[in-house]
Amino acid sequence: MAYQELRQNPITGNWVIIAEDRSKRPGVLQINGKVQLPAYDKDCVFCPGNEDKTPPEILAYRNGDVWWARTIPNKFPALSLEARIDGQPQIIREGMFVRMPGYGVHEVIIETPSHNQDIYDRELGQVREMLWMYRDRLTTYKNEEELENILIFKNKGDTAAASLYHPHSQLTASPVHMQRLDLEIEGSQRYFLSENFMGKKEQCGYCDMINQEIEIKDKFGVTSSVNRLIAENPYSIAFLPFASAFPFETWIMPKNHRSDYTLISPEEATQLAIITKEVFEKLHRALPNFDYNMILHTTPLNAGIQEYYHWHFEIIPKLTKIGGFELGSGIFINIVAPEKAAKFMNTGLDY
Ligand SMILES: [Zn+2]
Ligand SMILES: [Zn+2]
Ligand SMILES: [Zn+2]
Repeated sequence: MAYQELRQNPITGNWVIIAEDRSKRPGVLQINGKVQLPAYDKDCVFCPGNEDKTPPEILAYRNGDVWWARTIPNKFPALSLEARIDGQPQIIREGMFVRMPGYGVHEVIIETPSHNQDIYDRELGQVREMLWMYRDRLTTYKNEEELENILIFKNKGDTAAASLYHPHSQLTASPVHMQRLDLEIEGSQRYFLSENFMGKKEQCGYCDMINQEIEIKDKFGVTSSVNRLIAENPYSIAFLPFASAFPFETWIMPKNHRSDYTLISPEEATQLAIITKEVFEKLHRALPNFDYNMILHTTPLNAGIQEYYHWHFEIIPKLTKIGGFELGSGIFINIVAPEKAAKFMNTGLDY
């Protein structure tokens, strides 16, 4: 029988609808990432040997001519530092309308010299370098007051709007607020100031979430049909959120409370690389060669360390299209319950 349920995200308050589509069980979901790529493409501007075809490098991890991660300005930026007059973003008001030149930063992080290695089949060290590059780039903007709204994201595959196949991430920073991040930050602050389900105040909602996911896993087992946890190590944890908006949506976060990604230690970065690779291996096994978006949510750069916000990665496989209901309501319909997706990832067993 088909199953429908409304679930609320405890941090943002957003609701999602879990509505099973039996014709699209985890094992038969449509996956779009079918493109087979070579390890090297002489025409790819991100491949080694074509460094002169990109805008001048901002930062690279290299030894002489050999590099393993590079950051460059986006050639077609959505935002630019040049859109600033006398060092200030210029706000223009026309009656009720407000606009300003597109002031901000838009960078491309080339994650690996390999043209075709997605995170799941990269060397661990190469995954770690990508994560460390994220830290380095975020740290650069820490003291730029006008650029405190910052996002690192990755689009893989056509359906996720990737214009180039070579594995890369992007960083954008701007003076304007990012609605989704604000929703999380305000929601986590509200959670922190209210009594939680145990009647306790001043708890981080994400920490509470982690504890509950571990509790469920310990009580019912990792292969049970209620578990959502898919990977864990001394520093990090990965699970499919209770109110997942998308099938196979997966979050990775530090197990201990951390709000600011830039404060990650070398050892924590190694543990994070281990879990990131493990998560992508499991996702790839469930959804071979899948397309996805990956987003890093961390506290606004000038906010300092916060007791209520907890940085995390959101990985969203591109398996379904967003329709009028989602656009109109902001409520997402997810056709695979996260417990079922987690079970499929953990056991390979369909339901
Ligand atoms: Zn390439
Ligand atoms: Zn926390
Ligand atoms: Zn988030």
